[in-house]
Amino acid sequence: MKGTRKTGLIFFPAFDWAISPTHPEREERLLYTQDQVFEEGLLDFDNITEFKPGLATIEDINRIHVCVPDAQSVITESHLISAGGAITAADVVMQGKVDNAFALVRPPGHHAMRIVHGARGFCNINIEAIMIEHIRKKYGHRRVAVVDTDCHHGDGTQDIYWHDPDTLYISIHQDGRTLYPGSGFIEEFGGPNALGYTINIPLPPHTSQEGFLYTLDNLILPILDDYKPDLIINSAGQDNHYTDPITNMNFTAQGYAILNEKLSPHIAVLEGGYSIESALPYVNAGIILAMAGIDYSSVMEPDYDPEAIRQSPQITRYIEQEVKEIYQLWKDRGTKKAEITEGAGYLRRRRGIYYDTDNIEEDQIETIRICEDCGGLLTIDSRASTGNRVFAVIIPGQSCPACRKKGEQFFESIDRGTYDHVYFQDRDRDIYQVK
Ligand SMILES: [Zn+2]
Ligand SMILES: [Zn+2]
Repeated sequence: MKGTRKTGLIFFPAFDWAISPTHPEREERLLYTQDQVFEEGLLDFDNITEFKPGLATIEDINRIHVCVPDAQSVITESHLISAGGAITAADVVMQGKVDNAFALVRPPGHHAMRIVHGARGFCNINIEAIMIEHIRKKYGHRRVAVVDTDCHHGDGTQDIYWHDPDTLYISIHQDGRTLYPGSGFIEEFGGPNALGYTINIPLPPHTSQEGFLYTLDNLILPILDDYKPDLIINSAGQDNHYTDPITNMNFTAQGYAILNEKLSPHIAVLEGGYSIESALPYVNAGIILAMAGIDYSSVMEPDYDPEAIRQSPQITRYIEQEVKEIYQLWKDRGTKKAEITEGAGYLRRRRGIYYDTDNIEEDQIETIRICEDCGGLLTIDSRASTGNRVFAVIIPGQSCPACRKKGEQFFESIDRGTYDHVYFQDRDRDIYQVK
């Protein structure tokens, strides 16, 4: 049997890193998968190649995060290898060594926001965002779509790209009224300069394969068709599986494989998935075969029973209605943006952010310059229950000269005063300064 695409695999189970020995986010997650991949002989296919993960650098982290007080104090070496694994996946694709690649790495990253005071939802740094900015730095600017199929809303990735019209973030997840982190509602639709470029698709608990694939065919793929990204990244969380112990969905290994084949991502990065023996090996095998263009029809959980996880007609109707509503919102994004930004110079939002893993509370005031020409100069005033108070001046990627100039002047003139640190981040010029 031959595959139609060259696929790269990068494994990093992080043997020596766990939140605690019994925590669901632990190394067995990937050890089982790795065994299964070897046993099934997936690496015997000529078109599937394993690559060793590289090591991300502190500069890679500082290009997109502001870590308090600094990156070194919020990460371990495992985080650098996990992000490095994602970067390796990107490199082998961008250099044409393979057609697509899957980074099966941990610790995960999609709950890590731009400012990092500690760990949230088992995440310290956002491995997808670090990878995307590595791609832009090394290979030039790209319009990127991130499709996050983890069961939890990827509030970290959403936060990082909230103001960036060149990064479309689409998250399909279990409704935030019923699951951590309690966000990801339809109304969360992007910042004023990037309205419409964050798309949230909350699905009801017990949604099955039918509902996931309906949403993909009737919403996600049409939006991607409109947006025309240069690259599609899949945050490939697997906790929508019907056996997952910490969620309530009814997705299957076959479903994940079909989704992957239709989405056809350039790079997939593993996120969550905590059903270690009953789901992960099958879901990962399905995804790998689909990426490599090999028949995956025989991939099936031993206990698979379609009747037991059939979707109710109410859920079907709910999803059909929601898909219609969200697609209309996407089509109306230009008009809605004009309404919000009309006559505004700067817009501000204040919010509380909770770091459940480290039990830290953060109070954040974010101010964005309304700009027609770029994502807009951003400043963040952040105070955490650790006692740290910081201020960050952030020049967006593909910045316009006016936003850059204002940001530089602002950082120059700002007095450290009551802040522990003042940070300056300019992604295009790769400048990161701390006062
Ligand atoms: Zn998850
Ligand atoms: Zn601007």
